[in-house]
Amino acid sequence: MSVFFSKKFGSLTPYVPGEQPKDMKYIKLNTNESPYPPSPLAVKYACEEAKKLELYSDPECTELVRTAAAALGVSEDEIIFTNGSDEVLNFAFAAFCDDGHPAVFPDITYGFYPVFAEYNGVPYEEIPLTDGFTVNVNDYIGINRNIFIANPNAPTGIALPLCDIERIVESNPGNVVVIDEAYVDFGAESALPLIKKYKNLLVTQTFSKSRSMAGARLGFGCADPALIRDLQTVKYSTNPYNVNRMTMAAGVGALLDTDYFEKNVKEIMNTREYAVSEFQKLGFTVLLSKANFIFAKSDKISGEELYLRLKENGVLVRHFNKERIKDHVRITIGTKEQTTVLINTVKKITEG
Ligand code: PMP
Repeated sequence: MSVFFSKKFGSLTPYVPGEQPKDMKYIKLNTNESPYPPSPLAVKYACEEAKKLELYSDPECTELVRTAAAALGVSEDEIIFTNGSDEVLNFAFAAFCDDGHPAVFPDITYGFYPVFAEYNGVPYEEIPLTDGFTVNVNDYIGINRNIFIANPNAPTGIALPLCDIERIVESNPGNVVVIDEAYVDFGAESALPLIKKYKNLLVTQTFSKSRSMAGARLGFGCADPALIRDLQTVKYSTNPYNVNRMTMAAGVGALLDTDYFEKNVKEIMNTREYAVSEFQKLGFTVLLSKANFIFAKSDKISGEELYLRLKENGVLVRHFNKERIKDHVRITIGTKEQTTVLINTVKKITEG
């Protein structure tokens, strides 16, 4: 830390992104990217747009907003696009949380929430998941705090049903409830239809997972227009051009290519079922995942050792050095072929 670094960030511990190694070619199952390339239509639109990069991007994301609103069944003033969904989540901490409106989220969840809270000077409390790693809905009923819940949760993959989300939202009318649906397309129920009914609900989603665009950085939030205007105020006070031209065009292409989206999501869900059953055959305990990853542990090998041994063998997964989940590894669902290599490698490590 330099002598110039602001005291306000003195105790800030930054988020640690998953490894993006360059030393060798791995089967990369550690950051929940899609194993499939983006839609050809997304690539085509992005390439065409590249010819106009001398011009700033449209701060209102007009065409993308129009396309997304039609695709998602929301109004154009109920949506904001951001540089990945990380950005809309950060905006939500900035816009809605302060000393009088602290944040709560589960103790095991997306590791960026406490970082965003600290970055924005927001007090927060972590509520333990149950022993089975589920969110105990009753913990959040009428809690009178701003609530951040990833649904499906990460890194567990476990999802709450919509009726439980609704109970949480309904019981906290004086606070904002943010439902982070980064992984919702892989089999969970979206809370998007509820934004028309509740003025305190913000639903965030991303193009990084089910739409194969992690490198483009595109996410969005949907909520009552008043909440969206607050998020716009934060956006226009930091970076009005937060979504670049190529990403915006790719986003339109990705939304229009529904067949490609549906085919990939289905394929990943099928491969997930295959991975779960193979891991169970190897004696692993696997949580019930509705995401494009699974969270698994074995009595035969520690989470850290499995992670290290897999890495030596060219397969990268994610291990979290956190007491409650240190026995587990999180494994992104890749292609069927990648998954077969993964399973054979795990078999070799644990049985041989
Ligand atoms: N929420 C959750 C639960 C995540 O796991 C991630 C991805 N790491 C994000 C949000 C953010 O993804 P992105 O910024 O790529 O949209």
